[in-house]
Amino acid sequence: SKVRSEFLSRMSHEIRTPLNAIIGLANLMRLSGDGDPVTQKNISKIDSSAKFLLSIVNDILDMSKIESGKIQIESRPFSMDNLLRQLSNIFLVMAEERKIKLQFKCCFTHKNFVGDELRLKQVLINLLSNAHKFTENNGEITVTVLESAAEEGVSELRFSVCDTGIGIPETDLERIFGSFEQVFRKSRSNQQGTGLGLAISRNLVELMGGILSVRSEVEKGSEFFFTIKLPVYEKQFDEILENNNEVRIHSYLAGKNILLAEDNDLNAEIAVTMLEMQGVHVERVVNGQQAVDRFQETLPGTYDLILMDLQMPVKGGLEAAAEIRSLSRDDAQEIPVIAMTANTLQEDREKALAAGMNAFIPKPFDVEQLYKSIEKFLH
Ligand code: ADP
Repeated sequence: SKVRSEFLSRMSHEIRTPLNAIIGLANLMRLSGDGDPVTQKNISKIDSSAKFLLSIVNDILDMSKIESGKIQIESRPFSMDNLLRQLSNIFLVMAEERKIKLQFKCCFTHKNFVGDELRLKQVLINLLSNAHKFTENNGEITVTVLESAAEEGVSELRFSVCDTGIGIPETDLERIFGSFEQVFRKSRSNQQGTGLGLAISRNLVELMGGILSVRSEVEKGSEFFFTIKLPVYEKQFDEILENNNEVRIHSYLAGKNILLAEDNDLNAEIAVTMLEMQGVHVERVVNGQQAVDRFQETLPGTYDLILMDLQMPVKGGLEAAAEIRSLSRDDAQEIPVIAMTANTLQEDREKALAAGMNAFIPKPFDVEQLYKSIEKFLH
């Protein structure tokens, strides 16, 4: 089990590094606006294929984390409207293209809840992707969210994704929740996927205290549904609104100085170009030792922030960050150090924080993700 989890974490790192370059370069080409409409369309296809590949890598990692009991459900306030808006942003275009009627029927009295927004979104994305995959053009998909009071300050929320698609034979209804299990279909186009989505979703819902179930009739459609209890969040909080693909101007970035430690030339070039587009001055070094040396050689205040890859030759990012934090100069404690890494397991995040880093940007990252993560520290 230990060898397997090391292998998976290594594989994930090795696949993420080139994926970061593919997604990053596709982003840069799109932003440059160069090329005719066909080229621009091809660029978005490269981008979506790379993201699809990333989702497979993520699913395989998630399944292995679930099997080894390493997934933890977070408890943070989130806005239900915002979550549903994100889902609608992802699926509306696809639905329109295929003339599928996508509806959201929501009835909740509270706006904000405490729970694991990302994992909840992951489950709903899985269910919605399946509904799309197994529903013919001109069909219907309905997402329903119903809230009822459970106990003082806690609500019961029932989520359902219902489609008018090809349905599932009764004999397969339980089996499809197992890892790598799929319904055998004559047409190959309905066989796509790894068969991990429902296994992961069922486990995640269970960790959130619910049971993911299904009702289905062949040729009529399917409904996947679950109920979970979530505390209501009454106070105000800063809602982070998911944006569309447009790149905004991030005024806090212009004129800032960033030290970037990254050994991979292509990934460094991409990060530098993305940052320079917002008016950031970037100085790049190729390992952790050089990052420490550069920080020590320069006057306090020279850099506003350090971006640090974790796996680098000579000295890795964790050691370098810890060394910078242990220096006796004034800004050694204050300078934000952000990990930017293809090591994305929870334990990698914990190690980064323990080494004194302030945040963690998993590779591959989107251009907006990079800006937003940095901006927080430069206000
Ligand atoms: P994948 O979609 O990658 O194959 P899942 O675990 O998400 O993996 O789903 C497993 C199988 O369950 C699918 O291959 C499909 O046969 C069946 N299935 C899931 N959702 C639906 C649905 N909405 N309609 C019909 N069949 C479905």
